[in-house]
Amino acid sequence: MVRTGAEYIASLKDNRCIYINGERVSDITTHPAFSGIVKTFASLYDMAADEANGMTYLTEDGTKANIAYKIPRSREDLAERRIALTKWAEATNGFAGRSPDHVASFLASFAGHPEVFERGGERFKQNVLDYYKMARDQDLFVTYVIIPPQIDRSKAAHEQEEKFLPVGVYEERADGIVVRGSQMLGTSSAVSNHLFVSCITPLRPGDEDYALSFVVPIDAPGLKFYARPSFAQDKPSTFDYPLSTRYDESDALVVFEDVFIPWEQIFVYKNIELTRAQFHETPAHILGNTQAQIRFVTKLKFLLGVARKMTEMNGTDKFPQVQEKLGELASIAAQVEGSLYAAEYNCLIDHKGIAKPHPRYLYGVVGMQDSIYPRIISIIRELAGGGVLQVPSSYKEMINPETKDDIRKYIRSSNASTEEKVKLFKLAWDIVGSEFGGRHQQYELFYNGAPFVVRGYAFRNYGYEEPLKLVNRFLDSYGLPE
Ligand SMILES: Cc1cc2nc3c(=O)[nH]c(=O)nc-3n(C[C@H](O)[C@H](O)[C@H](O)COP(=O)(O)OP(=O)(O)OC[C@H]3O[C@@H](n4cnc5c(N)ncnc54)[C@H](O)[C@@H]3O)c2cc1C
Repeated sequence: MVRTGAEYIASLKDNRCIYINGERVSDITTHPAFSGIVKTFASLYDMAADEANGMTYLTEDGTKANIAYKIPRSREDLAERRIALTKWAEATNGFAGRSPDHVASFLASFAGHPEVFERGGERFKQNVLDYYKMARDQDLFVTYVIIPPQIDRSKAAHEQEEKFLPVGVYEERADGIVVRGSQMLGTSSAVSNHLFVSCITPLRPGDEDYALSFVVPIDAPGLKFYARPSFAQDKPSTFDYPLSTRYDESDALVVFEDVFIPWEQIFVYKNIELTRAQFHETPAHILGNTQAQIRFVTKLKFLLGVARKMTEMNGTDKFPQVQEKLGELASIAAQVEGSLYAAEYNCLIDHKGIAKPHPRYLYGVVGMQDSIYPRIISIIRELAGGGVLQVPSSYKEMINPETKDDIRKYIRSSNASTEEKVKLFKLAWDIVGSEFGGRHQQYELFYNGAPFVVRGYAFRNYGYEEPLKLVNRFLDSYGLPE
């Protein structure tokens, strides 16, 4: 089954416990902090449900499902995924980081390698397969929290001041476990259906109670979400904040107040080795991050478009210095896009016949996340100048008879109307300067781990055989003079 937007919205009307501004949200679909992103995600579901968009496939069980859930078995499958996921990325211009295709990519990878989970016991393998099929066939929106809360990063989970600060097993029962503690940082979780919970940061001996992997419905009793401030709420209009009002996914600290998890929803139980292996011995981390790169490629194209249009409107695109800056933007965007294609073209087919993009090219570009986005934002700021702040505080000055003539006279361009200019520069501010824009800079820097962590991925996945072979061959070609 592939859901429509209306079905997705209906699925959010449950007993979920989301707190924002000191209050519990009664209906997430109509609350001003969340209704914008709910509408956006609903439009993605409508897109996928429309046969004409080619975003579904027939599963091996004969059901129809979203391609994000398809286990890729060839380069062609990876290309099919990229094309479908790009459609969703384009619908949000790359600003929705945790759209439903992100964790679906992890689940498909888990299901492609159920034997990894079997190492913890036969039932865990079955749990992974059963859950995957259920999530796929019900077209569930699953998000995740896989990072322990920031408390004392120099200590292991079991060394923290109290036992249940990161989420851990509080009680084991015949029918399941009770978990207690917290985990960060649930992007889009407030508007999703299920939460995947685990720990991707390295665990140490003694951390067994925290070495878990399970799924839980968002409205499970005891599950609480503390959302950060909304960037959508209280904005005058979409004209003024076009991104904040529509793409604010929300992020939340997740608290588990003695949440019961039936055994069927558990993939890894008290197993440090498998908690790590699920991400890296299946293609989960690679496929999930490929989704992130597909989104990022689209976002960079969008930012390039904004930069180009701003300079055209200000007549600065004729200056060689400005063209040089636009050229730098183009170089960065083309490199990121090229890496996506290189990873797909050079994909590896593993011993189970599952295709994964080549990690060298994927992590090579992921490892640059602390320089790519900040540089892009810096160039757009430089090209924008004060134009992003000479726009009126809201659209109202543009319609108020007392003010509209001044706005029309002084905010202008030789090739665009006042309305077009204000619209574009307000969009640019939502990218570089609004709270939403600031959050995106933090997101691109951290969504996949801190910069030193992602550089580690680049280091471990490059494959040094070739470079070392070259150097060794060269060194072997000469010796000490006789
Ligand atoms: C906007 C946003 C959305 C996110 N969405 C999600 C989500 O949907 N799901 C999810 O699970 N997570 C999410 N995250 C969390 C993200 O995965 C983490 O931010 C990331 O893993 C880094 O962890 P941290 O923020 O605790 O930073 P820390 O690990 O505390 O690192 C912060 C800094 O401290 C230093 N540091 C910390 N540890 C070390 C060390 N061992 N050695 C050297 N230096 C160190 C580094 O300078 C590092 O940059 C999100 C984060 C952001 C910012």
